[in-house]
Amino acid sequence: GAERKRKKSGPQKLTFEQIGGQDNAKQELREALDFLIRYEEIQKLGIRPMKGILLTGPPGTGKTLMAKAAAHYTDSVFVASSGSEFVEMYVGVGASRVRELFRDARNRAAKENKNSAIIFIDEIDVIGGKREGGQQREYDQTLNQLLTEMDGIYSSESPRILLIAATNRKEMLDSALTRPGRFDRHIEVDLPDKKGRKHILELHGKNKPLSSTVNLDKIAEESYGFSGAQLESVMNEAAIYTMREDLKEIEQRHLSMSIDKVMMGERTDRESSE
Ligand code: ATP
Repeated sequence: GAERKRKKSGPQKLTFEQIGGQDNAKQELREALDFLIRYEEIQKLGIRPMKGILLTGPPGTGKTLMAKAAAHYTDSVFVASSGSEFVEMYVGVGASRVRELFRDARNRAAKENKNSAIIFIDEIDVIGGKREGGQQREYDQTLNQLLTEMDGIYSSESPRILLIAATNRKEMLDSALTRPGRFDRHIEVDLPDKKGRKHILELHGKNKPLSSTVNLDKIAEESYGFSGAQLESVMNEAAIYTMREDLKEIEQRHLSMSIDKVMMGERTDRESSE
C-alpha cells in the first residue's frame, strides 16, 4: 500500500542547478551532504553520523526539490513520504508505516545497487509535533518509532541512511526530534529575493517561447513575496493567456496579468478557508 502511495519516489534526475535562488540553502545543504559522501573520513575521525537534516520555510519554496537534488548529488535512492500518511485512526498503524518506510529505503538501495538512501518526510510536524498537552497522544507511537529508526542509523551500515524532513512550523516540533543526533542540522529555505525570483522565472521560462520584449527583471520586481511555486504558476498562466489570444509568444502583459491572477487566487483561497 505504502509503495503505491509514495508517488514522489522513483528515479530522480533533479539537480541543484534546477533550483532557482536559495544560494545559501543550497550551499549549506551540499556541505552537509558531503558528510554522507565522505563517510570513511567521518568514521576514522569518530564523528557521529549525520542522521537528519531539517528544511524549514514557507510552502512552495523548493524544500521537496532540495531533497530530490540531495539524492542526486549523493547518488542515493530517494524515498519520499509525508507526515499525513502516518496519521491513522488505529493505534500502531503509523508506527508500522514508519518501519515500512525505512525497510523500503534499504530494500531499494540494495536492489538499485546504491550505497546510500535519502528518506524525505514532508510535513514532519504532523507526526513530530510537541507532545505536551495530551492532544497528540495518538501519534506518540509513530513519533517513537521514527526516533527508534533514527537511533538505529550507523555510519558503518550499508546502505547509509539520511533523513531529510521539511516543515513550515519548526517551532511546533518536539525537542526529541531536534536534539543532537537527530535532526540537528537546520536549513532555512525562505521566500526568494528579487534575484532568486528572476532565476526561478528564468528556469520555468526555459521551455516557453518568451517574446524578446519580455523583461523578467521587472516581473521579478512585481512579484515581491511570491514563492517558487507561485512563480511557476505565473509562467504557466502567462502561457495559457497567450494561447487564449492565439499568439505564439508570451508577452510582458501576459506575465503581468498572471501575477495579478496568482495573487488573487491566493487571496480567494485564504478567504474561503476562513
Ligand atoms: P511545501 O512546503 O508546500 O511542500 P516545498 O517547499 O516542498 O513546498 P516544492 O514542492 O519543492 O515546495 O515546490 C513546488 C513547485 O514549485 C516545484 O515543483 C517547482 O515547480 C516550484 N518551485 C518552488 N521553489 C522553486 C525554486 N526555488 N526553483 C524552481 N522552482 C521552484
